[in-house]
Amino acid sequence: MRALAPGFTPYQWAPSTSDVALLAGLDGSQVIRFDQNTPPQPLPSTRPGAIAGALARINTYPSDGYRELRLAIAKYAEVEPENVVLGAGADDLIMLCVRTFAGPGDEVAIPRPPTYALYRIAVQLAGAVLADHEPVLTIACRPNNPTGVLEPLPAARPLVVDEAYFEYCGDTAVPLIDDGVIVLRTFSKAFGLAGARIGYAIAARDVADELNARQVPAPVSTISAELARAALASPPDVQPTLEERDRLATALGGLGLAPLPSRANFLYVPCDDGRELSDALARRGLVVRAWDDAIRITIRDAADDDLLVDALARILDRPSPVTPRGGRSTRTARATAETRIDVRLALDGASRVRVATGAGLYDHLLEQLAFHAGFDLLLEGAGDLETGDHHTAEDSALALGSALDASLGDRRGIARYGDAVVPMDDALARAAVDLGGRPYSELRLEQDPGMAAHMLSSFAQAARAAIHVEATGRDPHHVAEASFKAVGRALRAAVASDGSGGVPSTKGVV
Ligand code: PMP
Repeated sequence: MRALAPGFTPYQWAPSTSDVALLAGLDGSQVIRFDQNTPPQPLPSTRPGAIAGALARINTYPSDGYRELRLAIAKYAEVEPENVVLGAGADDLIMLCVRTFAGPGDEVAIPRPPTYALYRIAVQLAGAVLADHEPVLTIACRPNNPTGVLEPLPAARPLVVDEAYFEYCGDTAVPLIDDGVIVLRTFSKAFGLAGARIGYAIAARDVADELNARQVPAPVSTISAELARAALASPPDVQPTLEERDRLATALGGLGLAPLPSRANFLYVPCDDGRELSDALARRGLVVRAWDDAIRITIRDAADDDLLVDALARILDRPSPVTPRGGRSTRTARATAETRIDVRLALDGASRVRVATGAGLYDHLLEQLAFHAGFDLLLEGAGDLETGDHHTAEDSALALGSALDASLGDRRGIARYGDAVVPMDDALARAAVDLGGRPYSELRLEQDPGMAAHMLSSFAQAARAAIHVEATGRDPHHVAEASFKAVGRALRAAVASDGSGGVPSTKGVV
């Protein structure tokens, strides 16, 4: 074996989810990762159906050189397919660029620390050295990881510009590819495909040819190529993440912290002892990236970010500027060949609800149920809506039911029963709920827009609840909405504490 550079250290990940779960005494599903700079959810295009064609040909190598994907990337990046070099993530392309330009003894200039660790690793593995006197290659990270800052573009050439966070920032060096610049991009960040390991470089044709000649014959799995193609067909809207980044920065400011101005989907937060702070967060099941004098926080969404802010407030012993979801709660992810549904449910919430699966009216009905139950609910996902909304609506109801079941734990101390009568214009719904653990549904809806009764029975089954609904009215939408509201109201009473802490049954078990 060739010796590694003296003092070489390999890439280091933040602690694994299972290690943090063990440390925090939590189930792995409750651990929240703020360390990967990846979005909290995959894109709606990420569905089993997107890879069905690739699976049907998985016994073969990619025979057409990823033609379709190269075309799609070229269109997206406003270049020609001949300018595109594919790799197993931007990491693969960092390694490729460095080994293409630098060998033993050569100098490579990388951004001053803190920056992305793989530049150093790639240079050392190529036998080259980190220096900027006469570099054979210069690397810029724009915006820089971990600071999020967009530094000026270096004048040095040849220049690799790592634009892993391009979508959040909008600034690109692609127009400079004929001036000795190679741009690296990834599907891991804004496109939410980190697990698929796929990225690309954009370079002048002759440079792209040289890079492709030095790449392995089929660097990207056909499954990943299909996922990337599906993602490019409907690129993400990063605006909500940018708004959430600014909201989180303000909340951190409220704790006396001063995050650097970020152009990416993370915040670099200077602090006295980043490692100690990160350890304290890990003991609460929250994972961030740590440096001696800073932590880096990936923007997730308001519900998750507030948990982090609240935990920081407790650790730093300062008043919390946010009210996180509290009490009995659960996070579940349900995936089948037809749908993928992610649920975050807190029973002792404040009716902060968002249901977004694309199933229109049925999203709205679940929002009504959760709102009137007083839950905090985030139910997001994607289903095979091209076959109709049946699978998506049904699986959403099942996922919410399972989340309720999990949040109730052993069901000690709950009132168990609840009932409600809810009018809505012409409609009148009566609902009664028993959370005794026996799934049952008795549903008489005079009108049904299609899936309302079926969703309630799916919900009852997964929640292990008995649900009775009688609803009359002329308008199907009103009948369904009154029914879901009534079930919500009944649930609000049934999940409430009975003050005893005991099992709500003469049998002593539910
Ligand atoms: N460049 C930068 C600046 C990054 O932050 C990362 C991911 N942490 C990468 C490249 C690697 O991305 P990929 O998943 O595409 O290998």
